[in-house]
Amino acid sequence: MSEKKYLKGGGFLLAAGKADKIFTPENFTSEQRMIAKTTADFVRQEVWPKIDKIEAQEEGVTQNLMSQAAELGLLMADIPQEYGGMGLDKASSALITENMGMAGSFSVTHAAHTGIATLPIVFYGTTAQKKRYLPGLADGQIGAYCLTEPGSGSDALAAKATAVLSEDGKYYLLNGTKQFITNAKWSKTFVVFAKVDGKAFTAFIVERDTVGVSIAPEELKLGIKGSSTAALVLEDARVPVENLLGEIGKGHLIAFNILNIGRYKLGAGVLGSAKLALEYAVKYSIERKQFKKSLSEFGLIRKKIAEMTSRIFVAESLVYRTVGLIDNILEGVKGGSEEDSQQALAGIEEYAIECSIAKVYASEMVDYVVDESLQIFGGYGYSQEYPLERLYRDARINRLFEGTSEINRLLIPGMLLRRSLQGDLPLMRVLENLKNEVADTTVGNEPSETGVGEFAWYREKLEGARKAVLMAAGLAVEKYHKDIAERQELLALLADMIMEYYALESSFLRIEKGSFATSDWRSQALLNYFPAAMERLRSWGREVIGAVVTPGQLAVKLEVFEKFCRSTPFDTISVRDLLAEKIISDEVYPRGSF
Ligand SMILES: Cc1cc2nc3c(=O)[nH]c(=O)nc-3n(C[C@H](O)[C@H](O)[C@H](O)COP(=O)(O)OP(=O)(O)OC[C@H]3O[C@@H](n4cnc5c(N)ncnc54)[C@H](O)[C@@H]3O)c2cc1C
Repeated sequence: MSEKKYLKGGGFLLAAGKADKIFTPENFTSEQRMIAKTTADFVRQEVWPKIDKIEAQEEGVTQNLMSQAAELGLLMADIPQEYGGMGLDKASSALITENMGMAGSFSVTHAAHTGIATLPIVFYGTTAQKKRYLPGLADGQIGAYCLTEPGSGSDALAAKATAVLSEDGKYYLLNGTKQFITNAKWSKTFVVFAKVDGKAFTAFIVERDTVGVSIAPEELKLGIKGSSTAALVLEDARVPVENLLGEIGKGHLIAFNILNIGRYKLGAGVLGSAKLALEYAVKYSIERKQFKKSLSEFGLIRKKIAEMTSRIFVAESLVYRTVGLIDNILEGVKGGSEEDSQQALAGIEEYAIECSIAKVYASEMVDYVVDESLQIFGGYGYSQEYPLERLYRDARINRLFEGTSEINRLLIPGMLLRRSLQGDLPLMRVLENLKNEVADTTVGNEPSETGVGEFAWYREKLEGARKAVLMAAGLAVEKYHKDIAERQELLALLADMIMEYYALESSFLRIEKGSFATSDWRSQALLNYFPAAMERLRSWGREVIGAVVTPGQLAVKLEVFEKFCRSTPFDTISVRDLLAEKIISDEVYPRGSF
């Protein structure tokens, strides 16, 4: 991989991105679109008619659907061909996950199974383990991933579960409780993390019928009620030594690398739920009449439709840009050999920052979308008779699992700084250059004459936004150095700025790559999003600067900072109206050709 040319993870902050280097949804191949359509058809024809039974966890329903999904190849995208899978690219896999995102609770069963339950074996399993477990997982024998414990959630490495080698050296005896395990009730295999001799954090593959394994009663939850969540209880569970996964004491690598994958996949999955919520809301707004008009004719409802579309578009742009980065780095790495697995993991780890951004941004986007969609339904949105009630409840989990929003916000700037200190990313040099630029108070030329929405206009504003993020980060690091790791509020503000910049740039590069005219709905979506995002950047940056700069320096620093974030108001109300008109006339978020 080292000989290959690829963009460094986090590198988007160091220099302006190039449109021809990014992957966008417009680049899906006909095969990828076919996979998306197969998944969407499966959800509509097979899952939706059984939603009530799934929600009630009626015996056999979810298991049968998983077998049907397996027959269509929807469980094997990430499993190498030699182990019964299809070894598809990550864009195809993400498209399956996105379209499954319309399947409510079933999407959680599917995502946990194909992601966190299967991938540890794909990437860390021995040949014998892969042969034993992957064909079954590809075939619909459900799996689970067991990291969380009652006393250790975000602080996963504080786990108390133990593994002790039996006297005859044939088994590990596992003891402990794994909390909130998705698919617990249905799983045949569990990837379990426990500490060998209470010290060395290690992964094991545990089979359901192992002596000493039991499942606690189902958790009663706010949403995703059709997904099984229960504790896995281990009481002297006799796990054969050959089921140790990876190396003793290296379980943290498995746990965290697999979560990176889970994160961009979660980003893709919530796109499916958000597009569905918007579709329901738009259709309802057309049908529902008040004051002798359709709701869709009212400016405030149109604003909601346009705003939801914009945010979905931005999330979609950054999620698939991230997926494309990973596919690019993994080009040619398709097999199941140990070397391929190591390369694949290193590739995915490279983009851990982007994966965290995709997770936080998209999970917060979907909560906004389901909330506004429910609002369009009025009182009926609150009623179980209508679909928004469930979508609203189901969406909430996404900010909690696969690393909470808070933990991922800490990780984003934390990883950037760590890579920079390790010399992997020349962030400090870029910050130093910017410092010299900022010392010159004449910096920030007058705004160019280009019109709002033209590519040159975006490029100029984005360059300012990038420098604004770097300036805030540089000042914060200058004040606190390594101790910034203890300044959580500052880190979270910086994370918000970094995410917003990635969101803006990903959306713009998508439009530039597609050469979309200002009249195209995608251009309208970004144009609507842009000024408010610049204002958010400005506001977060001002807070950072206020907290880290001495009163004597404040005015000078703010003057430069404000120039970086400068934007002139324009008629966003008309932009939104045009965008809303497009979505209302299509009655759906534009899904390309499937
Ligand atoms: C429905 C469901 C399904 C799940 N599925 C699985 C699964 O399949 N496998 C699995 O292993 N786990 C699973 N989980 C567990 C999930 O990943 C954890 O709930 C999550 O990681 C948070 O851990 P916690 O609940 O213990 O919260 P805590 O870690 O106690 O956190 C509570 C709050 O404090 C915040 N917080 C924690 N630490 C910090 C910090 N250092 N700084 C600032 N804020 C902090 C958190 O962000 C959160 O807001 C599932 C959970 C649910 C609810």
